[in-house]
Amino acid sequence: MTRDEVLRNVFGYETFRLDQQRIIDNVLAKRDTLVIMPTGGGKSLCYQIPALIFEGLTVVVSPLISLMQDQVSQLNQLGVSAVCLNSSLGLDEYEMNLLEIRSGKVKLLYLAPETLFLERTQRLLGQVPVDCLTIDEAHCISDWGHDFRPEYRKLIEVRRRLKGAVTVALTATATERVRADIREQLSIGAGDEFIASFDRKNLFLNVMHKDNPQSQVIGILREHAEESGIIYCYSRNQVDELAHFLHSRGFSVKPYHAGLADDTRANNQRLFIRDDVQIIVATVAFGMGINKPNVRFVIHHDLPKNIESYYQEIGRAGRDGLKADCYLLYSHGETNKIKFFIAQKDDEEKRVALSQLATLVNYAESEVCRRKTLLQYFGEEAADRCNACDICLNPPKEKTDFTVAAQKFLSCVKRTGERFGTTYVVDVLRGAKTQKILANGHDSLSTYGIGHDLSKTAWQAMGRQLVQQGFLKQEAEFGTLALTPLAIPLLKGETAFFGKTLAPESSGKIAAPAKKRELLANANAELFEILRRKRKELADEQNLAPYMIFSDKSLIDMSTRLPRNRAEFLEVHGVGEAKWQRYGEQFLFLINNYTENQTV
Ligand code: ADP
Ligand code: ZN
Repeated sequence: MTRDEVLRNVFGYETFRLDQQRIIDNVLAKRDTLVIMPTGGGKSLCYQIPALIFEGLTVVVSPLISLMQDQVSQLNQLGVSAVCLNSSLGLDEYEMNLLEIRSGKVKLLYLAPETLFLERTQRLLGQVPVDCLTIDEAHCISDWGHDFRPEYRKLIEVRRRLKGAVTVALTATATERVRADIREQLSIGAGDEFIASFDRKNLFLNVMHKDNPQSQVIGILREHAEESGIIYCYSRNQVDELAHFLHSRGFSVKPYHAGLADDTRANNQRLFIRDDVQIIVATVAFGMGINKPNVRFVIHHDLPKNIESYYQEIGRAGRDGLKADCYLLYSHGETNKIKFFIAQKDDEEKRVALSQLATLVNYAESEVCRRKTLLQYFGEEAADRCNACDICLNPPKEKTDFTVAAQKFLSCVKRTGERFGTTYVVDVLRGAKTQKILANGHDSLSTYGIGHDLSKTAWQAMGRQLVQQGFLKQEAEFGTLALTPLAIPLLKGETAFFGKTLAPESSGKIAAPAKKRELLANANAELFEILRRKRKELADEQNLAPYMIFSDKSLIDMSTRLPRNRAEFLEVHGVGEAKWQRYGEQFLFLINNYTENQTV
């Protein structure tokens, strides 16, 4: 079969994505290849299609045992002979897989590195022709990366012994340093490196001003009823609390973090993957081994660690290419808490952490297109407007001259001795009679009560903007405000201050949630549900995740096209010969049944 035939007949896809075609040709020409693609970009096909065309075996090294099993099951569903060897297999199964490999029937063998280095694995690979060595998560080979695994270095040795095998290295890590390191370690020429765009167009990016996270989360969940999503929190405690709260409100939700017992954690993950539970509330511990294609939203309840983790985490949404929503709940105040923690680190760590934080703050507070900001960070040019982020869909309002109010605020900070935080300063401005103010004698200041014309929230917004624009600096631990040199000319009336309206920022500002209605567009929602139930039933029977039977996209396509026979069924997205053989009749039956009832 040619690569195009494999794409259509085995995988059931119409066209190649991104650089897949060029990459596959490069691999088929037996040129060692490095593939850099974002999560969900479609890296797997880059070695799976060559594997089906090569005569011999393709060995795939991956550090993630759970993903390995997932890939093998998916390939088996496509009628491809793939097996894995790892420590999680029972002896019988292990032996059976060995037999199959020796017989030469197996096209893809998935292994953890430690299994690959075993003497007996090496012997095995000496007995069968190996045409391709695939190194998944290839950034693990670089100690510049975030996930260095020393055992990955030994792959260089193994590779030398596998003469005649082409090497394919794949990763979603984009930094130039790591890329150069992988190229050097594996001696892959720059001409054999393929870097796909990191723009995931189906991800809608939202940053929301975090003022009432619980109700904001609930608002988002209501927009995504019946859909799968992940909510990331900073700490285990927060995970437990939020999961508990959502559960009490009747949502289908489970927690996931490193503090849970191994089997609870594994079980919660399984429930999510199998569509038995819709929402996972998790720390960053969740996601590495997840391949679920129909995650429709990712919420960051707290600020992520850095922009790269953020990108990885939102990348888990919408792998199937359908629209998915990403929400970051952000409050400037929280960055002060983070700064406080950072202040306790040693110098080098502090420098890195502060610059990572600055990048995130810039992303969240900037008023240019979110996608443009993100892509620039990864060194990619982007259009000024993506029309798929909150900024593009709700352009920030014109700024207004708020010089007088700003002067009032700054001079109140100065008169109170630059020793207080926003709340206190605002109380003085509005002439509050708190004990603290009276005790400090601040009720006799000239700035006492000069701000009674504006609301508390308006003054707080003013304070935030003065910090954001650099007229005030806020000390990390207690949030104490102090003037910066920029403040002087403003106080003297030599410069002006332009800000956003001082009304509280709307917290309902959401770009455009990928509502199910919209996803289904011309499809038959009722039929989709019928097919979805069938899929779940078949998956449970075989102890598989539903997406291994058919992706959501396939079901949507079926409920739109309403195929009537084999030929039409094979036209459906993601349906190849094997899927037709296995499930075609059953789904055709339901579809025909449905259409007949409609016409009566
Ligand atoms: P990655 O490994 O880069 O995170 P995957 O290889 O898992 O991404 O692919 C993500 C999803 O996109 C999968 O569901 C896969 O089946 C689908 N996909 C990949 N290539 C194509 C294509 N050419 N046409 C349609 N769907 C594709
Ligand atoms: Zn945009």
